[in-house]
This record gives sequence, C-alpha cells and structure tokens, in this order.
Amino acid sequence: MDGYLVLRVIGEGSFGRALLVQQENSNQTFAMKEIRLPKSFSGTRNSRKEAVLLAKMKHPNIVAFKESFEAEGHLYIVMEYCDGGDLMQKIKHQKGKLFPEDMILNWFTQMCLGVNHIHKKRVLHRDIKSKNIFLTQNGRVKLGDFGSARLLSSPMAFACTYVGTPYYVPPEIWENMPYNNKSDIWSLGCILYELCTLKHPFQANSWKSLILKICQGSLRPLPSQYSCELQHLIKQMFKRNPSHRPSATTLLSRSSLARLVRQCLPPEIITEYGEQVLEETKNSKHSTPRKKTDSSRIRIALENEATTMQGEEQGRKYSDTDLESIHKNSTKSALRRVNEEKGKLFKFESLCK
Ligand code: ADP
Ligand code: MG
Repeated sequence: MDGYLVLRVIGEGSFGRALLVQQENSNQTFAMKEIRLPKSFSGTRNSRKEAVLLAKMKHPNIVAFKESFEAEGHLYIVMEYCDGGDLMQKIKHQKGKLFPEDMILNWFTQMCLGVNHIHKKRVLHRDIKSKNIFLTQNGRVKLGDFGSARLLSSPMAFACTYVGTPYYVPPEIWENMPYNNKSDIWSLGCILYELCTLKHPFQANSWKSLILKICQGSLRPLPSQYSCELQHLIKQMFKRNPSHRPSATTLLSRSSLARLVRQCLPPEIITEYGEQVLEETKNSKHSTPRKKTDSSRIRIALENEATTMQGEEQGRKYSDTDLESIHKNSTKSALRRVNEEKGKLFKFESLCK
C-alpha cells in the first residue's frame, strides 16, 4: 500500500479501519486510517477534510500527521502511532481502581494544551471523548480523530451541524444551538469526570433521560479522595451556558494546571512562542522589548496558543429571557433533534450496552 506494510488492525469504526503499518524504506511504524470514500463529490470532500485539518496541526499533544493519499476508493491518512492505546481502553483496564489525582491532572493538562492549540487555529474538534484521546508508553497524551472536526471561516462563525457521541454532547447542541469552542470544553469536562470516576458523567438507558440529565446537569459528586479544586474545575466545565465555561487557556492558567504546563509542554515550544512574541514586541512602536522570565514565557506561549475566539464568545450571548425559554423548550427541542439525528448519526442503543 504505497510503501507501507500492514502489521495489524488497531481500530475499527464506521469510517473504515485504523491500521498499524510499517514504512518499507525506513522500518518506522505509523498508524494509518483507511477511510472508504463516499461516491458523492460532497461526501468525498468532507472525508478529505479530516486529513486537511489534521495536517494543519503541529503540537506534541495532537497526533502528528505524516501524509495522506487516495487509492482504490479509499483515503489513507498516515500519522504517528500512539503505542499506549486510547484513553477509553485505559479506563476500562482499571477495572474500578481509581487513578491518582496527579496522574489525572497531568493527562488533563496535556489534553487542554492540545485543545488550546486547535482552538487557536479556529478548529473545533466536535468529537472529544476518551476513545479519541491516544496515549504513548512514555506518558504523552494526544488528541486524535479529526473526522468530525470543523474549521470556522471566521472567529465569529458558529458550526451549525453537529456530529458526535451522545454521552459527550453538550446541552446547547440538544437545544439546537450552534456548536462553539465551549462545546468542546463540555466534552473535555466529560473526560475529566470519566477519569475521576471511571464512568460517564451522564448515563441513562433511554435518549430522553440522557438528554434530560445532560440538560439539567445533575452530577454525582466525585469520590472523596479527590480535591475540592478538582470538583470545582468539573463544575465550571459543566456550566449550562457555554459562555460561562472556561476556555482552554483559562483552564491552563489555573494554579493547579499552570504548574504542570512546564512539565507537559516541551521547552522548544515555550522558547519558540516566547521568541515569536519578543519579535512581535520589537516590531511594535509602542513597546520596548523586555527580557522574559521562564514563567512569563510559559504564559506567553499559552496566550499565543490560545484561540480565545472572543468574537465567537461575544458573538452569541444569551439573554435571561432566551435562557428561560431555552430551558422551557429544551426537552421538546432536544427530542425533536434526536428524531432528526436518530438513525442518521447515532446508534445510541448499541452505545448503551
Ligand atoms: P473513528 O473515526 O472510527 O473513531 P479513529 O481515528 O478514532 O477513527 O480511530 C479508531 C481507533 O483506532 C481509535 O479509537 C484508536 O483506538 C485507534 N487509533 C486510531 N489512530 C491511532 C493512532 N494514531 N495511534 C494509536 N491508535 C490509534
Ligand atoms: Mg474515533
């Protein structure tokens, strides 16, 4: 297959398969996603988007793109192989044994760094879940599977269509509102909760009660071994109003995570962004460049990384009356949405098994 030898299948999904491959001329191993291309032009263009968006990303917490090509009705995306499997498998392997808090915070920080990077590039992932978080044996955590990702045309834009996995879908989507960067934050909150409890935050055996639980945001508290700070962090991420949820940058600047950023972010990234900002400062007429300390470099790196998507956050603010009417109509509209989506995208019954 174009210079690659297939070693084994590492994942299967509705798109096709994920394979572990070896490059013939280098003996290096990679993961290769094999996607059946739809017959329609728009379907094919949509499938290609995954490769295009992944290729735009370059960050230690995002699975690295190598190349993509098409052959015999399939699209192949070659990327770095994460030899620690995905986070969902990792959670399952725990068999009920809770993770230590420092391990959770380290993984979570790495996820936030990855999400911060994509948001900076105005990309929404739209399918953040433990199965799409890949691990390496040396402790790296990487955001993968850009199959549902979407590039916003401008910082003010919203994505109006949504594909995702029901457990991780935020209330605004069930209420037919646009998807924005804070919707990814909700899903990230679901993973954080899952890491602390080894369970989904919202579980139900019917669509109706799942949506109700998500829209009401009723959560069981974390096991007592976890700090109040962690509990508070989760509460913030599950704010019903998206604009009240913290952005990835805000999350990373919290004291508990900020101290981990230095460990999780390689020094070259901090230096690279630090130098870039120094350069920008030099070019500015109104400010004199100052030598940056290590910690201010980290802050600069994050700020520079951040897609605050402020326009987007400000572009859609809900008034109290809006929120009230959303609340009243939420179940009705959410269920209408389910009927629209049912059969098309989600196989909820099988997910509940
Ligand atoms: P899908 O669109 O079907 O969800 P994914 O890209 O998530 O496709 O791949 C499916 C599964 O294959 C993942 O959940 C993961 O277990 C495995 N996988 C995919 N890419 C990689 C990778 N780069 N490294 C390791 N495992 C991977
Ligand atoms: Mg996936």
